[in-house]
Amino acid sequence: MPHKTLDYLTSMKLDHSHALVLFSGGQDSATCLAWALTTYACVETVGFDYGQRHLVEMEARLNLRHALEAAFPDWGKRLGDDHLLDLSVLSALGSTAMTDDVEIKMTDAGLPSTFVPGRNLAFLTAAAALAYRRNIGVLIGGMCETDYSGYPDCRDETLKAQLQTLRLGMDADFGLETPLMFLTKAESWSLAENLGGQKLIDLILEQSHTCYLGARDARHEWGYGCGTCPACDLRKQGWQAFKGGKA
Ligand code: ZN
Repeated sequence: MPHKTLDYLTSMKLDHSHALVLFSGGQDSATCLAWALTTYACVETVGFDYGQRHLVEMEARLNLRHALEAAFPDWGKRLGDDHLLDLSVLSALGSTAMTDDVEIKMTDAGLPSTFVPGRNLAFLTAAAALAYRRNIGVLIGGMCETDYSGYPDCRDETLKAQLQTLRLGMDADFGLETPLMFLTKAESWSLAENLGGQKLIDLILEQSHTCYLGARDARHEWGYGCGTCPACDLRKQGWQAFKGGKA
């Protein structure tokens, strides 16, 4: 198995009770953070500033962390530092609907115009470099290939390949956990419910931010958002499937 070879090759042994969550402040990364806080002794978070159109995402990150600490004191004891890394090179590379005032639509490549080429690859590389510096052994991300927008860098195969690259390229025994990879959005809500009950569901509904347009003026039963962009659409459908499954 490749892992055996990699274990042999990596000389830097990192602390695998310590995790770093890629934390955007959205529903998925909030669920991942809660999962990490039930699983690891110490959990830090990292976010990325890449010229997103809306600062709402940045505010949601900090609000979510504070709300989690307040609602779940035991988790709060495990919650360590937050880091914000500047990856503005991603927006400098070209316009996408995530960073510029470009219409959200399908492109000729069959991907939504919200696709930022190389984004998750850059995120993971920067997160791994930070983890290396801080002796953190486990990277955690909310990437998912079940209900997603077709981004090729969310696929399990991409992430497994990148993990091998990171291990080899930094000669360190990184682990990578993607607890949502094979869950539908409805199943992600079930996971949140199992982790923290209705209290966690309410917290994620109220505090997390997913909408591509940064809209927070309207509160729907599934949370805040414009209600029509692809991210809101996925979130709405997931919530309805979750509620429908429980009815
Ligand atoms: Zn929206």
